[in-house]
Amino acid sequence: MPRRIILLLLLLLLLVSGCGPQQLGVLYDEGLIEVVDIHLHTGEWETTPERGKETLVEFFPFPIGLQAEQAVDGILSRAGLLGELDRAGIRRGVVLAVYAPKVFGIASNELVIELLREDAASGDSRLFGMASLRFDRWGAGWQAQLSELDRALDEPNMVGIKLAPPHQHFRMDDPRLNALAELSASHQAPIYVHTGPSPFPGTRNEIPYIDPAYIETLLASHPDTRFVLGHMGYDFLAENLGFLATCIALAQAYPNVYLEPSALGARARESGRDNMKAVLLAARDGGVLDRVIYGSDGPQRPGFLDAYLEDTVAVMEELEFSAAEATAVLSGTFEEIYLN
Ligand SMILES: [Zn+2]
Repeated sequence: MPRRIILLLLLLLLLVSGCGPQQLGVLYDEGLIEVVDIHLHTGEWETTPERGKETLVEFFPFPIGLQAEQAVDGILSRAGLLGELDRAGIRRGVVLAVYAPKVFGIASNELVIELLREDAASGDSRLFGMASLRFDRWGAGWQAQLSELDRALDEPNMVGIKLAPPHQHFRMDDPRLNALAELSASHQAPIYVHTGPSPFPGTRNEIPYIDPAYIETLLASHPDTRFVLGHMGYDFLAENLGFLATCIALAQAYPNVYLEPSALGARARESGRDNMKAVLLAARDGGVLDRVIYGSDGPQRPGFLDAYLEDTVAVMEELEFSAAEATAVLSGTFEEIYLN
């Protein structure tokens, strides 16, 4: 075959295949912005308690709900997560370990580490992790929990610590958190804290478990530890902005405080888009937009990551965020505090 024809065929092939490796990112203001989702879950059907299984079945639309078991093991596996990230155009995701045996069950540090190693072995690391520990092993087992967390944080790509006071049943002013703040600083692994009330059965929704004002002493006394206030104080019970004002005030007062707007903007909530608009506007007006780090709380159900990102970007456009502001939220601030 003449060389010219071969070149032409190659060119056609390139055009058809979308020019080599998939371009990941979102188009914003005529440029492509890379995206990181810092709030993803993994897990196994077997270790999910009955109550959690019932919730998961409801998450999946008919007829997927009929095969919830396969759907969970599918969407929450590495291939499933990467598939959902690809669909959304998201380059990297952070997968959280969960130790909430009385609420959601357990997604152990080991499970997350296995996922990260599998991902790294592929030669293209797209998944990072946050480790956690068992607050129900308070007492004799606590020191062992701390050493195990310390070890988990030595793992390459394990970049943070995830805590959920209402789901793990500890107060935000619990003195045990001091040891965690020190561990966090020594590993440069920010602490992600769930803030605001939660609707799941088995949750502790008393004020000291959900109001970020209760974590202020800890933030103030550990300036070298970075804290990410998850859900920006959103009240998932009453479906309102909850402790948003407190979260903004803490970010204004302390340079080691960051904010994350996951779940509150979901399409499943009637006010999802208004919520996202309200929290991003509050952050910008409060001068702390560069502290906001994007997360969705997925994958939940097929297409959720894609929808959450699409809606978030639409809100940013509506608020006329500059490309630099959008980049900071979607990946810049994450890179700065988790990867440096
Ligand atoms: Zn979550």
